[in-house]
Amino acid sequence: MTDINPEYANTKRPLKLTGACYCRHLTYLLKLEDRKNAKTTLCHCANCKKAFGGAFGLTTKVPIQAFRYDAGSGKPTIHAADNGMGSTVYREFCSKCGSYICEYGEQGKDTFRSIVFGSLDEPSALPPKGEWFCSQREDWMPVIPGKLAQFRKQ
Ligand SMILES: [Zn+2]
Ligand SMILES: [Zn+2]
Repeated sequence: MTDINPEYANTKRPLKLTGACYCRHLTYLLKLEDRKNAKTTLCHCANCKKAFGGAFGLTTKVPIQAFRYDAGSGKPTIHAADNGMGSTVYREFCSKCGSYICEYGEQGKDTFRSIVFGSLDEPSALPPKGEWFCSQREDWMPVIPGKLAQFRKQ
């Protein structure tokens, strides 16, 4: 584990982070007045495994006002699907390189964005705070190190 940029530890200043898809057709700005408003979590559900193409999903949930595509950014392609429980989930991704940028459910559509962690240019600024769907966690995955007492598991 490396220390995060000391700039990020200064909680008194708004945190500005940039992000992009793999080919940088889509670029965005994440501006957090208070970094407590950002919540990074791992999700072990089957939908996240599919969408991320990995062993788990990793997103940072932020208020919608904190996130915007840059003026020069391309437009994302939006995929809408049933989340398996009768509610729609939207996923925004790059139509050129396929990188996944963010997702949101029907209910949080106008209030939140869950930013795909790896799309941030400096994701280390927002380490995870919890894990979801631990019942579907891959057996070989090591325990997440760090402040386990504060790590919320569900
Ligand atoms: Zn791209
Ligand atoms: Zn999930």
